[in-house]
Amino acid sequence: MPEAALSGAALLARDRGLLWHPYAPLDGPAPYAVAAADGVRLQLEAEDGARFEAVDAMSSWWSAIHGYRHPVLDDAVGRQVERFSHVMFGGLTHEPAVRLAEQLAELAPDPLRHVFFADSGSVSVEVALKLAIQYQAAAGRPGRHAFLALRGGYHGDTFGAMSVCDPLDGMHSAFPSLPVQHFLPRPPAARLDGGSLVSDAGAVAGWTAELETAVARHRHGLAGIIVEPVLQGAGGMHTYAPECLQALRRVADTHGLLLVFDEIATGFGRTGRLFASEWAGVVPDVMCVGKALTGGYLTLAAVLCSTTVAEVITASEFRALLHGPTFMANPLACATALASLQLLESAGWKEQVRGVEAGLRASLAPASGLGSVRDVRVLGAVGVVELHDAVDVPAVTRAALAHGVWVRPFRNLVYTMPPYVCTPADVATIGAGMSAAVKEVHG
Ligand SMILES: *Cc1c(COP(=O)(O)O)cnc(C)c1O
Repeated sequence: MPEAALSGAALLARDRGLLWHPYAPLDGPAPYAVAAADGVRLQLEAEDGARFEAVDAMSSWWSAIHGYRHPVLDDAVGRQVERFSHVMFGGLTHEPAVRLAEQLAELAPDPLRHVFFADSGSVSVEVALKLAIQYQAAAGRPGRHAFLALRGGYHGDTFGAMSVCDPLDGMHSAFPSLPVQHFLPRPPAARLDGGSLVSDAGAVAGWTAELETAVARHRHGLAGIIVEPVLQGAGGMHTYAPECLQALRRVADTHGLLLVFDEIATGFGRTGRLFASEWAGVVPDVMCVGKALTGGYLTLAAVLCSTTVAEVITASEFRALLHGPTFMANPLACATALASLQLLESAGWKEQVRGVEAGLRASLAPASGLGSVRDVRVLGAVGVVELHDAVDVPAVTRAALAHGVWVRPFRNLVYTMPPYVCTPADVATIGAGMSAAVKEVHG
């Protein structure tokens, strides 16, 4: 017999001191208890018993692009459960993995044809870094094992991934044994104008000169360059000039570095292009995808690489990419991802994202007149309200809930990455709720 569902207040009391939440102390502010999640709505209960129905402006950290309890995704999980939920990937293969890999290779920019499945975004970044180091060793350059990354970047929480995150935000000082990497300044900002991303040409030239100097200085030790193309997510919701990616591609080619694009946040349409690299017309050697890959149902990520890179690995001493997690290519996750990608296509993600973008631009516009607000920006299904000072996170969260919106601000940013299936009314609710919450708490 299943136990009766606990009330939110009872759950929160039992959670406290028992469970760690992301980057939160054991005795930190109480979370909200989820009673239900359906479509784009969450039913939440607060510690004091208050109940809220809220439009999810976060898509569960940018992953639930089709919303919750989607019949197609529910069905994909259920059908795979009836076949088998998991089998090891060492020495075995299965239909969901093969079909998903074929689908990813077809969607990805052309030379990216080989797929490694990892169990989370961070792990896919580890695999990409290993791949670059193995590639350089196999190409006769074993001294090349450092990476060039961007200030303000975010690539995950495991050790290798952390080492290429912004050194201050990533709290490198807490982990003295991290590999030491090289960092370029944040690339100059870009703003959406008439369908293209425009930036200050002088700033781009200055940044490119710094890039060239840094690579010239460190090239003998560098295996590759890793960046989030066009949009830095968790490191600050910073949209930057696509020309910088073109400069990175040039420099990588000149010095034999692998160019790795971390599309874990930006992939599958979030910025208005299927992959954010398309804004620059640049194809990386290696690409990581995750987050929205399974439509937010299960944890899965993938590393794709070009045939040139794969051939070097295959001709190397080890012949293999040296990684292999227990739950590699989990069939439930692969089957759900396949259904999610088909849904992306059949539901018309481009129109969905374009609609969200227009709705966010209109509904967030009033926020730019507030005294506490420094900047309001929208790119695809991403809307950002940047304040002058740090957000009072518990207060803004609660105020937004009172307006029917779930947000999870960080630092000085109140932002949304809503599910693509939001209706115009849902998007209007999100924009109005964010603006009202900022106004009520920060003025
Ligand atoms: C979220 C994220 C990661 C880490 O993915 P996890 O699944 O949380 O390990 C890596 N890179 C980027 C750009 C991300 O947004």
